[in-house]
Amino acid sequence: DTIPAWIDRTVAAHGGREACVFREQGIRWTWAQLRDESDRFAAGLARLGFGKGDRLGIWSPNRSEWILAQYGTARLGVILVNINPAYRVSELEYALNKVQCRGIVAAPAFKSSDYLGMLCQLAPEMARSEPGALRADALPHLRHVIRMGEERSPGMLNFADVLALADEAGVAAARAASAALDRNDPINIQFTSGTTGSPKGATLTHRNIVNNAISVAAAMRFGAGDRLCVPVPLYHCFGMVMSSLACAVTGGTMVFPGEGFDAAATLAAVEKERCTHLHGVPTMFIAELDAPQFAATELGSLRGGIMAGSPCPIEVMKRVNAEMHMTEVTIAYGMTETSPVSFQSSVDDPVERRVSTVGRIQPHLEVKIVDGGGNTVEVGEKGELLTRGYSVMLGYWGDEDRTRETVRGGWMHTGDLATIDAQGYCNIVGRVKDMLIRGGENVYPREIEEFLFGHPKVSQVQVFGVPDARFGEEVCAWVVLKPGEQATEDEIRGWCRDRIAHYKVPRYVRFVQELPMTVTGKAQKFVMREKMMSELG
Ligand code: ATP
Ligand code: MG
Repeated sequence: DTIPAWIDRTVAAHGGREACVFREQGIRWTWAQLRDESDRFAAGLARLGFGKGDRLGIWSPNRSEWILAQYGTARLGVILVNINPAYRVSELEYALNKVQCRGIVAAPAFKSSDYLGMLCQLAPEMARSEPGALRADALPHLRHVIRMGEERSPGMLNFADVLALADEAGVAAARAASAALDRNDPINIQFTSGTTGSPKGATLTHRNIVNNAISVAAAMRFGAGDRLCVPVPLYHCFGMVMSSLACAVTGGTMVFPGEGFDAAATLAAVEKERCTHLHGVPTMFIAELDAPQFAATELGSLRGGIMAGSPCPIEVMKRVNAEMHMTEVTIAYGMTETSPVSFQSSVDDPVERRVSTVGRIQPHLEVKIVDGGGNTVEVGEKGELLTRGYSVMLGYWGDEDRTRETVRGGWMHTGDLATIDAQGYCNIVGRVKDMLIRGGENVYPREIEEFLFGHPKVSQVQVFGVPDARFGEEVCAWVVLKPGEQATEDEIRGWCRDRIAHYKVPRYVRFVQELPMTVTGKAQKFVMREKMMSELG
């Protein structure tokens, strides 16, 4: 069904239950309040001339306005475009024009990014135009900039102005119109993380993401009465679908610790709000486990949640399971282009399986693993993972060539290497692009990372290949040590030597304070590789 139909269903069943808590903003809404507020936003947008199929960008960290934009646009059938918070001026201009956004909702600033400043650079005429009559040469399609917060900016509407445009008749009209929406309509353009290069905009329908949210919630045994702590960004599918929409289809509560990720704020939110579930990418869980506040935080309310987004080290999964009370924690594997989850371990899987594999294929999806020639491999063999079914995106917006390359015969070519055993449990071996060939041997960085995680001083590690005149490629490791620890390159290499094959021992080991990350908390190996290549000449 469509997103607004689900919201109505949840309000009918759980209208009085808490829908969301924004701790930094001090906002709490029930599902009935969330629907009323987001429908007012929908009615306001309609007054500004927005209708089904128009695009509205959102450029913001985790704030309450995000949720209103998510469900307000869905009510009207307006396509919400999640703009990557890491974008700078030229990328913003490209994205807004590429998807021809009619408007953008923007937070004033976040961390080191001055969002409104960047918009003003693109639209200097804004200061002279009437609110709601924007004409900007660089952004010919953009009519409205809707800013968050109390202050006013020339040429922009405030979020509250849009809410104020709504009246009862407008809300009723928006609700009536939503009955005519089709679940196969596009409703969202989500950008990928930009882990391997520049982010791509995947076009998704109601049916894509609603069904995925239902599957995700079921696999982690989450429902009304449960409380999910959401430190992952809403801009990404992990926050928007696996967190927000999973709550919307079940009537559960989402708790946002703050605008951006902070380990201490996340731990405090779990304790104070008595959260039952917690989401995160591996780097977030590592930061929480290593935080000075960890030992003193009461996490007894926790039960489950999801670790996903990049390879989930078994050591970390075991600690989350044992030390964070998350005995029902699951791993999910997916990608923005598939709404996102294809595999998720289930609460019913034995713990060993649950912490060491991404589980089995989600209901109603098909999967196969193929070799370089496109032939299905034998059970247990490595190859590229392909998925097919309701979750596959319509395509990359405005990029038919790339869509055709990626989705062939309905099969999404994930670009990930995987194995599936006879019981159907899947292991993600790494990305096809990350595999390196050293002196004729295939080397899978993931395997070496998993191994180095076992070193008592290592907090985070990334392994990748760098070009080498003699062996074709050489293995390089970037290591973040645990707080207060020291180590030498020889110490790490020596530790590897008797334990893994010689060709897997990293030739180069570098100690860094932090890894280059996407805003979704994924390590960008292409950035590390470039740095190493310039260091090595
Ligand atoms: P881009 O496509 O822009 O380079 P990205 O692929 O990281 O970035 P996302 O769609 O956010 O963008 O992430 C999907 C990818 O994340 C998958 O293709 C896979 O490589 C990785 N991934 C997700 N979950 C897991 C997991 N549980 N284990 C291993 N890898 C995972
Ligand atoms: Mg990708």
